[in-house]
Amino acid sequence: MQQTPRTAFRKILIANRGEIALRIMRTCRSLGIATVAVYSDADADAPHARFADEAVHIGPAPSSESYLNGARIIEAAQRTGCDAIHPGYGFLSENAEFAEACTAAGLVFIGPSPAAIRQMGSKSAARQLVAAAGVPTVPGYDGVEQSAEHLRAEMLRIGFPVLIKASAGGGGKGMRVVRAASEIDEALAGARREAEKSFGDGALLLEKFIEQARHVEIQLFGDAHGNLVHLFERDCSLQRRHQKIIEESPSPAVSPALRAAMGAAAVKVGQAIGYVNAGTVEFILASGGEFYFIEVNTRLQVEHPVTEMVTGLDLVKLQIEIAEGKPLPFQQDEVRAHGHAIEARLYAEDPRNDFLPATGTLHAWELPAGIAGLRIDAGVERGSEVGIHYDPLLAKLIAHGAQRDEAIRKLSYALRQLSVQGVMTNREFLLRLLESAGFGQGVATTDFINEHLGALLDEDRAALEQASAIALILYLQQQWQDSDALARELPPAYRNNPYRNPSLKLRIGEGELEFAWRWVSGNTFEFMQPEPAVQAKLLALNGNQVRVALEGVQQLFTVTSAGEQFYVHSSLGSCTMRKLARYPEHQVAADAGSANSPMPGQVLKILVEAGQQVARGEALLILEAMKMEHTMRASVDGIVETILVKPGDVVAPGQILVTVAALT
Ligand code: ADP
Repeated sequence: MQQTPRTAFRKILIANRGEIALRIMRTCRSLGIATVAVYSDADADAPHARFADEAVHIGPAPSSESYLNGARIIEAAQRTGCDAIHPGYGFLSENAEFAEACTAAGLVFIGPSPAAIRQMGSKSAARQLVAAAGVPTVPGYDGVEQSAEHLRAEMLRIGFPVLIKASAGGGGKGMRVVRAASEIDEALAGARREAEKSFGDGALLLEKFIEQARHVEIQLFGDAHGNLVHLFERDCSLQRRHQKIIEESPSPAVSPALRAAMGAAAVKVGQAIGYVNAGTVEFILASGGEFYFIEVNTRLQVEHPVTEMVTGLDLVKLQIEIAEGKPLPFQQDEVRAHGHAIEARLYAEDPRNDFLPATGTLHAWELPAGIAGLRIDAGVERGSEVGIHYDPLLAKLIAHGAQRDEAIRKLSYALRQLSVQGVMTNREFLLRLLESAGFGQGVATTDFINEHLGALLDEDRAALEQASAIALILYLQQQWQDSDALARELPPAYRNNPYRNPSLKLRIGEGELEFAWRWVSGNTFEFMQPEPAVQAKLLALNGNQVRVALEGVQQLFTVTSAGEQFYVHSSLGSCTMRKLARYPEHQVAADAGSANSPMPGQVLKILVEAGQQVARGEALLILEAMKMEHTMRASVDGIVETILVKPGDVVAPGQILVTVAALT
């Protein structure tokens, strides 16, 4: 039984990191509860460590030596005088020994009893218990006899397709779908290896693989006084690698009658275990409307915010109150759901490379603002390093609307506005999912992503790339002009032939594109290449934001640079670009000391002669452009080599006017 403290908690340690640690701390703060963070070497400056009232270092970056080190975490809680530990999700949240160790150390574990965690920790044992309570489970095999011959015979009995699962599994690890007898041996061996490696337990479970099914789960809440309620369902059918990426409540596939039946079944499961605190009962909903139990997650789920948004409840607050020994503040018939909420998980990953995690530095991280009913639970900020040690979830965006299509619209808009640069993410993939016909109609099943992978990955980026590149070019041109021609960095490699129009080669994503343009008048340019030709007007440049009208349509672009890379973001999407040198290396080096025309203009006066020695910053010539005089200065100490223009000459942007050989 859980320890019931006499007083309310004053201080809680959050044994987690990232978005969930911050989310739990926010609720603690709102309740006046002090927080203690734990952090690894990799997280000394992480947002969760800085947000907490205190933060304790618990070890090196690998989670096995830090966030999974229960003894260190308990010691940290004792040292800082905590009353309780909230484990979040993942890490130690479903670890019965850790829950026991907390109690033994005089700390309250905010979660269910160690016994409930243990009972539900084995999918096989959970199935047996649930089936005995009269709740349907997927037809399958959950016995102790684990020889390959026996499992093979069971698969043939169940009938293909069969799903092999690790009994101790989680996170989709150790799962294999078997569609024919010829695949059995390899799938069994692979699942066994993965189960042993991931969970230290090779026990396998077999289930009929139910195709065109939906994943529907019920949120449970129990208190220590025998009350047990459900907070309706979440539909988490959109999955890649058996892991959820979009979740919603209510489910478009669940009628009021089905909701009542599934809710009652989940409560029955909870009662069978004597469940206390937050838990989730997961079901597979077959296309015919039958539902089958698959597992119980004995913790707060990643996707809990959709339930919070429709019910108006704070699930972390409820968890804390229940752990304090308080009764649930409502009964089943008092729980109401309003509107529709959808969550999208923004991951650092590469959808084109089997959704493998991506790493890097977040050079830009700008969240959308002003969208009513939008919630963002993020664990990162600008400058965050996304490394290899932890889950690549960057943030969850959750939108609430009166109807489902309103929630979809808000979420798509928010994802489009969000600027994340420097790390590859699934943002575009999420957008295409949200905007797909299948999702829009509410008919997407757990097979949806696999079935439509080609179309979901396929995108036409030509228009986006062209617009973003033009914005970047105008931005660089203007910036360079504003720098008073003191060539602080190598200017864009414009052509130095005055009879030809300026051009620039960019690497955009995987490809290369050459841009050629000409000055039309004022701040207006015509980009002839690549086709189709575009009339572009630079309207304003403010910091790293450039407003450009393309064929008369205004758009705001944000440019972020890091090293050689430029990241351009607008509501059209994001692009990563790099300038490509058009000259051989030695010529580029010579250009470094030369004065280039920053804009279209006319030469007023030449102030130096060939052969003259000049110091960095010394005036070389005066140019008149846009009715203003601009002094062009030497960017290096050197000798004037050639003067390529004479007073009165009209020059093009980027044209080299005077070359200076650097003195080395
Ligand atoms: P894990 O604990 O690793 O997340 P689950 O048992 O929850 O594993 O299964 C992960 C996902 O795989 C589920 O969300 C569900 O969509 C799918 N799944 C699980 N069991 C079945 C089944 N018998 N038939 C079809 N899909 C299934």
